[in-house]
Amino acid sequence: MVTEITPPGDTARTLLRGTPVVPGVAYAPALLVHTEVSPDAVAAFDPSRYADAEEALEAYDAAVEGVADGFARKAAGVSGDAAQVLTASAGLARDKGLRGAVRKQLRSGEDLLAAVHAGVDQFVTVFTGMGGLMAERVTDLLDIERRIVARLVGAPEPGVGTPEEPCVLVAEDLAPSDTAGLDPELVRALVTERGGPTSHTAIIARQLSIPCVVGTPGAMTLAAGTPLLVDGAAGTIETDPAADDAEARVAADAEQRAALATWTGPGRTRDGVPIKILANVADGESARTAGGGPVQGVGLFRTELSFLNRKDEPSVAEQAGIYGQVLEPFGEDRYVVVRTLDAGSDKPVAFATLEGEENPALGVRGLRLSFGNPGLLDRQLDAIAQAAADTGTETWVMAPMVATVAEAEEFATRVHDRGLKAGVMVEVPSAALLAHRMLEVVDFMSIGTNDLTQYTMAADRMATDLAHLTDPWQPAVLQLIAITAEAGRQAHKPVGVCGEAAADPQLASVLVGMGITSLSMAAAAVRPVGAQLSRVTFEACEEAAEAALSASDPVAGRDAVRALLG
Ligand code: PEP
Ligand code: MG
Repeated sequence: MVTEITPPGDTARTLLRGTPVVPGVAYAPALLVHTEVSPDAVAAFDPSRYADAEEALEAYDAAVEGVADGFARKAAGVSGDAAQVLTASAGLARDKGLRGAVRKQLRSGEDLLAAVHAGVDQFVTVFTGMGGLMAERVTDLLDIERRIVARLVGAPEPGVGTPEEPCVLVAEDLAPSDTAGLDPELVRALVTERGGPTSHTAIIARQLSIPCVVGTPGAMTLAAGTPLLVDGAAGTIETDPAADDAEARVAADAEQRAALATWTGPGRTRDGVPIKILANVADGESARTAGGGPVQGVGLFRTELSFLNRKDEPSVAEQAGIYGQVLEPFGEDRYVVVRTLDAGSDKPVAFATLEGEENPALGVRGLRLSFGNPGLLDRQLDAIAQAAADTGTETWVMAPMVATVAEAEEFATRVHDRGLKAGVMVEVPSAALLAHRMLEVVDFMSIGTNDLTQYTMAADRMATDLAHLTDPWQPAVLQLIAITAEAGRQAHKPVGVCGEAAADPQLASVLVGMGITSLSMAAAAVRPVGAQLSRVTFEACEEAAEAALSASDPVAGRDAVRALLG
């Protein structure tokens, strides 16, 4: 949405609105990232320079080396996930299979640029067919193709260069190689025209705590260098603001954020209503990091992430070792909620996921895999029980993608048989609608707002053009959360939220106002969410919940809640 706002002096100002992802206020000139190679350079390229297929292949090899070197140099300057992403991109650029496909095209008489395109296209088709995380690598492949083409036609490589002064990065969408290694000192905010709250851009921005707005129509029409005031909580981008006002808002925001960073828990509202603040973890390392922070435990351990690159199912003993590493840091008086394998759809696991489903998001994923393969679930539950006994940590177990009361009951029986607390995730709308009956058979529920939003709004959570629908502030999604929370209140059983919604400080207050008893989130969000809750009363949270539920859309809901809570 683009709104004209009152011009101060001569300058026409505009207000763009997108989906807010990471809160924070930033003021800096726009740096537009073009992901396309200069069309003029491509038009001026004369393919007859490489009429000989072997010479053309040499030019391809040289371009690939340049691209891979660039990734490797960037990787050397960063660490952790960013370095891994860049190293993987360098490997993909040098891939022998890709080179073979290009060589075949050249030998069959294609010109150089057409051969590169056809070779990459062949791999795009294969990766897309594999679905899930492999399909996400298509973005990397297309990014690599553009970089190779740029080198061949003598144009600068597209993507993010190294900014020399503070800027707001504005792009259509960002490739993993663009976001890996961003310097938050120089990149003050991210604004993308496409992409949703679970897009790659959003995940990296959250990790780096860079204010971020995605799904912003009109962003790429901004002129390079235009001063922008980005509000990552409101989802607004104001062009040419009065400099004094903008700087004052940035300073106030920085002060507020510094105050948030000092929050030490435990989670409670200003008037003392307790809310458990928990962490989402993927493995022993992330569990140890989270365990060092002010959390009361883990609200979501995504077990399938440990097995994405495994061909065969690990033994019960090996699984118990992996789970034990996550349970270990929470031994004393905290607890860990372990989620059984959520394999399938966007997280394919070779030894569990079914091949060739027409529509994997609506297919045999999560708990449904155990219908045809109950041994898989039983062995995992044995391993979890073993890890719980080895570490002495209080362990709860929940199943993903539960749709019926019978599924909940069957799962709970298996978990109770092993002496552990049993719960189900609320990701399918049917689970929310029948929460009161599910709570008769399970000990707790945990709402996965990422999938609950996808299935309520019939909008693919990975789709880059549906950000306004894949938004947990959608009143229909909030209504289902409220129904589930109320069922928990009636049954006197805990109902938490472990999807991305819990990481949004304003939405966290709304959830608490509905009666949600725990919030589980990425470690980076723990302090901002905990601090926000400590500043509001429970009654204010209830008012915020009412306002968000009765809003006409997510924009109106956010505005109403901000007006109430400040
Ligand atoms: C969810 O769907 O909200 C959730 C927490 O599960 P995942 O993101 O792993 O699908
Ligand atoms: Mg889910």
